[in-house]
Amino acid sequence: MRLLIFIGIVYLCYRILKSRLFPGASIGNKVFRHNVRNIDDVMVKDPYCGVYFPIRDGVPLKVDGKDLYFCSNECRDKFIALQRKK
Ligand SMILES: [Zn+2]
Repeated sequence: MRLLIFIGIVYLCYRILKSRLFPGASIGNKVFRHNVRNIDDVMVKDPYCGVYFPIRDGVPLKVDGKDLYFCSNECRDKFIALQRKK
């Protein structure tokens, strides 16, 4: 009788582990692939003029270790000028 209970517990643990591991892994993969596929389509906001645009069209600038993206060189230069005034 004890052996049956033990087997039941092991089986339940196996079922729980399986349902936790496999759907989680597949969801993770989907999210990962989704991000990779759409990385060029990510919309970012220009911190200077507030316009949204695709990240691939942005002008990158590193500020305090963070990557900012601007809609144009003009906005980037104005933002840099603004930062210097502070
Ligand atoms: Zn702009």
